[in-house]
Amino acid sequence: MLYEINEKALKLEAEGKKIIRLNLGDPDLETPPEIVEAAYQAMKAGKTKYSSAYGENKLRVKLAEVHDVKPENVVITPGSKWGVFATMYLMLKGGGNVIIPTPYWTAYELIAKSIGAKVKLLRTELENDWKIDPAELEALIDKETKMIILNNPNNPTSKVIDDKTLDGIVEIANKKGITILSDEVYGTIAFTKTKSILDYNGGCKHILSNGFSKTFTMTGWRIGYIIADKLLVDNITKLNQITINNVPVFIQEAALKGLELRKQIANAIKKEYKERADMACKILSKDGLSFTKPEAPFYVFPKHPGLDSEKFTLDLLDKGVAVAPGTSFGDYREHFRISLTAPRPKIKTSLNIICEALK
Ligand code: PMP
Repeated sequence: MLYEINEKALKLEAEGKKIIRLNLGDPDLETPPEIVEAAYQAMKAGKTKYSSAYGENKLRVKLAEVHDVKPENVVITPGSKWGVFATMYLMLKGGGNVIIPTPYWTAYELIAKSIGAKVKLLRTELENDWKIDPAELEALIDKETKMIILNNPNNPTSKVIDDKTLDGIVEIANKKGITILSDEVYGTIAFTKTKSILDYNGGCKHILSNGFSKTFTMTGWRIGYIIADKLLVDNITKLNQITINNVPVFIQEAALKGLELRKQIANAIKKEYKERADMACKILSKDGLSFTKPEAPFYVFPKHPGLDSEKFTLDLLDKGVAVAPGTSFGDYREHFRISLTAPRPKIKTSLNIICEALK
């Protein structure tokens, strides 16, 4: 349905209709000019050849410094989506199941299905502050369970897992010998302190997936990374060798520049998105919608009792606003996801249209 909405939006745009696009996690801001310049300079300097399938050494060293791990625990991937795919492929291709809390980022379940892995969904609810119940998680684990996926902060709820819950989840995973893949693409730009899976890691037992798309507004550049034990890093590298080989070196140079400027870039992004989120909460809370306050960019995931979000989002397109139905993130028909990825005046206009449409 996510893709159907996008296709309909593109069709309407091709017919000349103006659509405010709040349906994807693709930030409207530009990639910072220092990053663009670093790519340009690297291209001019001839960094346009094949290179290591692990990624450039200096980028791995910098990421290792940022995350307080060893460079041998870092592998560069073409976007974090590829990193998630490669990790799931390597860990699940021999069979087994994966536990995924919902609402989830759609790709996890689609990837699992594409590999033939079984999926066990762990439902969380708005009414319970989207909290994962460690006891429910434990009850889902069986002999075939190979992996638990966490998305912290979460897409679509923008909720951060509180420390106590995360402690509980990690304790269970350690007790049962199950690996956690923690997707933390929104972690650096969260509005509240977000504990990373690496904070628990003796010897990179669990896996971090991260990227540059969100923190550095680099969605189209396709660069991300996995931090894991050396064995998995080596195996992802082998997969890189037989597929993409390496992320272009000039893109890795650009990402390195981003990392050097990360505090200032992340702060500016957080500030802008916090203002957008505050504005959205103010408008949406007037109209009987329930939602949790975003603790990270870019999403709000409101609920409207009785809503058929698939019909609602398709109809809303005809009013000039694109959002995503809750069914794209699991069994959440009464919810829809708004991406705050447009300038503030456009967000304001579209939220008013949404509220009007819900009356
Ligand atoms: N993880 C989550 C939770 C996401 O929302 C997204 C993008 N929507 C990604 C990963 C993919 O990011 P990338 O551009 O690094 O592949």
